[in-house]
Amino acid sequence: MNKKALVPAIVAIVAVALAGCSPKPFVLKTVMGTVEPYFHGAGIDGTQLDKVGKNVYTFRWNWYRNLVIDTPEGLVIIDPMNPQMAASLKKELDRTLPGKKVHTLIYSHYHLDHSRGGAALAPTNIIAHEKSPGYWKNINHDGVLEPTRYISGDAVLNIGGVEIRALYLGMSHTDTLYAFHLPAERLVFTADLGLVKTMAPDGVPDRYAPGYLAAMDRIIAIDFDTFVPSHFGYGVKRDLVEWRNMMEDGRRLAREAINTAGSLGVNDDQMGKYFDAVYYPMREKYGQWHGFNEMFILNIVRDLVGEGLGY
Ligand SMILES: [Zn+2]
Repeated sequence: MNKKALVPAIVAIVAVALAGCSPKPFVLKTVMGTVEPYFHGAGIDGTQLDKVGKNVYTFRWNWYRNLVIDTPEGLVIIDPMNPQMAASLKKELDRTLPGKKVHTLIYSHYHLDHSRGGAALAPTNIIAHEKSPGYWKNINHDGVLEPTRYISGDAVLNIGGVEIRALYLGMSHTDTLYAFHLPAERLVFTADLGLVKTMAPDGVPDRYAPGYLAAMDRIIAIDFDTFVPSHFGYGVKRDLVEWRNMMEDGRRLAREAINTAGSLGVNDDQMGKYFDAVYYPMREKYGQWHGFNEMFILNIVRDLVGEGLGY
């Protein structure tokens, strides 16, 4: 918990304790509210289109970010995200690249928070991994434009003479996940895999940790400069390497804590021991990263459960 959040939390706890009523919902709500600064603040709220290569742009809409590739045949957009973001991007594109049509929309993976809202971009072609419909059919996926083409495994897309390498990442963050490498731009775009000096949100939901590590290592083995992740800021390859190391530090410390204090629920006071074993070394290395305080509890719980169960 950061200082800003700690003070109101303590005041609230004391006030409730003095009032003599049940503090539980109030305290829990306060604790939950401490996550809020992870998702909002200066440099996070609002929208911005940045040029990140000769013919590549990235558009940020609050904490989401996608990729726009300008080719002689039209635009290629990776991830519409949601109707509001797609509409906002369309407006920006009409201003910055007037007259350019969207040739191809690509879904990085099936998750609804990346695949909704494509209609606003009026794409001619839509590409997704072939397993995506298997997930969509069981959930309400209103607002997801149906793909016109499915791919599986690695694929090299040549659109308007621009080579876009779609790298299939296997069972990592769903088994429908692609990263995108633009060799001519020396740029990589990843969805929900890697951030720039920012802690993971909620332990990265829907993550199979061994496959996720393999996916990070596969991308790190590529020779590239510019790293554009699908959330928060963009940076350079080194940022992805540091993020991989942070994720693995969290996993390793959780594993060591379980080895020392025993599996979940076996001994007394395990949670306190887990906390001490993971918090202090992580704070030493990553305490200055965005969201360290806000996401610590959610991330340690994810690592402990994942290490305990094997995912
Ligand atoms: Zn996702």
